[in-house]
Amino acid sequence: MSDNFVFPAPAAVGLPINGSDASFPVRRVYCVGRNYAAHAREMGFDPDREPPFFFCKPNDAQSIVPVPEGRTVAIPYPSRTDNYHYEIELVVAIGKAGRDIAPEDASHIFGYAVGLDMTRRDLQMRMREQGRPWEIGKAFDYSAPIGPITPLAHNGPLDSGAITLTVDGKIVQSSDLANLIWNVSDTIAQLSTLFELRPGDLIMTGTPEGVGAVRPGQTMVGSVDGLSPIHVQIV
Ligand code: MN
Repeated sequence: MSDNFVFPAPAAVGLPINGSDASFPVRRVYCVGRNYAAHAREMGFDPDREPPFFFCKPNDAQSIVPVPEGRTVAIPYPSRTDNYHYEIELVVAIGKAGRDIAPEDASHIFGYAVGLDMTRRDLQMRMREQGRPWEIGKAFDYSAPIGPITPLAHNGPLDSGAITLTVDGKIVQSSDLANLIWNVSDTIAQLSTLFELRPGDLIMTGTPEGVGAVRPGQTMVGSVDGLSPIHVQIV
């Protein structure tokens, strides 16, 4: 009996879907590294012709924080860091399985959301310097606040549009989806050569320049044109 577990198995995290009473069950969370040239430069890299690379965040309720429309959600300042960074990102929600997906095939996209790839930058950098995995810098509790999913049909494919983050009302990140080195189509094509994508997968597509630190008490507002903004306070 596969349901005869010694303790209750955790349920999937559900993200709200705009225009629907149903929610989106999260399966895996893939993230793209250095996908805007100006951000790659600020991190000390030459963005020219570097293929996309990927890492993952956990998919459990302790890591993913759904941020409903019109609400400010609090997340705790994480342990063991003095340099806790925001990264505003476009999140792609996958609704149909596939591998080796062609860039022109948008049928696997369920919709889009606004998300934050919260990062313990000091720990990530230490791991990077030592050639070690990034998990302690990227895959910690409450590290992925994500807003409601707007279905693809609402806006069509998102290839351009403003992406912005404010902290306490001041703009700290401001770019355009057109500046993605690997746009959504290319990212899905590349990622699906490495993993079979499945319904419920999320792809955090990378952050533009302007990343920086936040402290307890500060409130971030992240937005992408056409999608529900997210309000997140550090406590
Ligand atoms: Mn990121």
